[in-house]
Amino acid sequence: MDPCSHKIAKKRKSLMPFGLGETKPKHFRDMVGIIWKNRDNLPYAWKVLGKGVCDGCALGVAGFHDWTIKGVHLCMTRLNLLRLNTMPALDVRLLEDISQLKSMDNAQLRELGRLPFPMLREKGARGFRRITWEEAYQRLGSKLRGLDPRRFAFFLTSRGVTNEVYYMAQKAARFLGTNNVDNAARLCHAPSTAAMKATIGVAATTCSYKDWYGTDLVIFFGSNPANDQPVTTKYLHEAKELGTKVVLVNPYREPGMERYWVPSTLKSALFGTDIADYWFPVTTGGDIAFLSGVLRILIENNWVDQNFISKSTVGFEGLKAQVASLKFDDLERGAGLPRASMQEFAELIRDARTAVLVWSMGITQHLTGADAVQMILNLGLVKGFVGRDKCGLMPIRGHSSVQGGAEMGAYSTAFPGGKPINAANAGVLTKQYGFAIPDWPGLTAPKMVEACAKGDLDVLYCLGGNFLRTLPDPNYVGKALANVSLRVHQDIILTDQMFIEAKEAVLLLPAKTRYEQDDGGTETSTERRIMFSPELTRQVGVEIQNAWLTLESDRAQLETLEKSVASADENDRLVREEYRSGLATNLEVITGHNQLLSARLELERQKYQVKLDWIALKLAQGLLPESENSP
Ligand code: SF4
Repeated sequence: MDPCSHKIAKKRKSLMPFGLGETKPKHFRDMVGIIWKNRDNLPYAWKVLGKGVCDGCALGVAGFHDWTIKGVHLCMTRLNLLRLNTMPALDVRLLEDISQLKSMDNAQLRELGRLPFPMLREKGARGFRRITWEEAYQRLGSKLRGLDPRRFAFFLTSRGVTNEVYYMAQKAARFLGTNNVDNAARLCHAPSTAAMKATIGVAATTCSYKDWYGTDLVIFFGSNPANDQPVTTKYLHEAKELGTKVVLVNPYREPGMERYWVPSTLKSALFGTDIADYWFPVTTGGDIAFLSGVLRILIENNWVDQNFISKSTVGFEGLKAQVASLKFDDLERGAGLPRASMQEFAELIRDARTAVLVWSMGITQHLTGADAVQMILNLGLVKGFVGRDKCGLMPIRGHSSVQGGAEMGAYSTAFPGGKPINAANAGVLTKQYGFAIPDWPGLTAPKMVEACAKGDLDVLYCLGGNFLRTLPDPNYVGKALANVSLRVHQDIILTDQMFIEAKEAVLLLPAKTRYEQDDGGTETSTERRIMFSPELTRQVGVEIQNAWLTLESDRAQLETLEKSVASADENDRLVREEYRSGLATNLEVITGHNQLLSARLELERQKYQVKLDWIALKLAQGLLPESENSP
């Protein structure tokens, strides 16, 4: 790299095809390994790939095709997850004494197979014993009965969980009297939600991946899509052919973002694609200082879009005064980069007519994550990189279906559709659901763990996930999880958090994969496409029942819940009939709008010919206010 510039010098390409001799994923060799691993269930594996919506990341693909590229959309992340869908049941005798299992890591535990039966471990027992579903209901029901609804909580993770499960989970939690229901979105993009909602009124991307194609710049802040959303490299390969420049703002020069061999694109598979054009190595957590310096340069030189600022924004003078008050010495120290770097970045922005700004965990998972997101939004807004083709503000999502969790209301601080939790909204929902809805905000995921540590929770129900490995300080988390009377872990595989003793008992419940879900299910992608994944029948273990019907606290309440479940099922059935009657299996829906984007979304609506879908049905029923956006 030229020491005066952040432009990445292109290496001479090796004449060796397929990146032989380079450090890179060995896609073709690894694919053979995947076939071998799934050899006992290859027809089902093929069905999952050919018909299912990918349970990997939130880029979104149904079968082998998406809405961005013409060719095949497939990556090793998806292939590596295949075994979760094809593996047989584990031998539950292994759970009788967990001392051996405790020395295994989560990858090894996953290899043991699918959890096929409800299992219970009482305090002091060496391991779990198999129990019936009836016993499981009894155990959980008797514990919940009469319990203060502030003393139990539900957490749902995001990989594989469908919108329907999120929706029913939040409904069941609220039926039981609590808003203590949260999902994994809290741990990744909650700062994006807060900053975006406050700034532009929409808490999700303002553009689609297609806008990467031919835009002047795609800038990745604190993200590594080559690893986390691998098929983005194919999008970027194609975007670069149209002249797009790729910029990284990241402490680490991610190798996959430097050069990538896209296996399904011949030219790239043979000789690789140089992806990033510029790399700005901010120090860890230095993004706010770096962007403040960039904004100061842009504003001082009037390299901003005054027309857009005056017509579509407020508070510009405040921002101008704020950045003008900052000293470059301080900004350089904070950013870990000199003023010249900020100048170079600002000049790239100056020269760009269009740009898409993309960010993820490297930005959000900091104490000041929401402020860093705010600075990215400020950068986009001063140049009007929103509401136009080839422009956008994109918090790129990780796990599949994480986008939908909060939108469905599995969020402790919002009702379905992002409605704030207050007495008025609780009243509306009470009428619609036919049972009382609490009007107090529930515990967020980290607060649930803190409540466990303080002894404020008696039941913690986790659907998937692993707090031990996703939150900082595993020692603290482990002690907190041990301080709950009853923990329920519903999952398809074993994870090490299940082996932490609880004060009374740990209950393991098996689950269906998204492909096994009765009548299929939907997922919302990063760009808020809603994709339908049909049921691909498979049975592992005894019949795995609908978890959200197991929360019996008394008969009368259960009957009320069953009625509401029935009506939700009826809605889903109607929608799916629409799907099957030829509307398409992959519906494209843009939900949410605000003043800035309404014109663009209207165009999108026409372009994609928005169809009635599950969300739209809820909108029509008034469950999701169309004027509000997801949390
Ligand atoms: S990029 Fe994401 S959505 Fe696409 S196949 Fe890979 S894991 Fe699935």
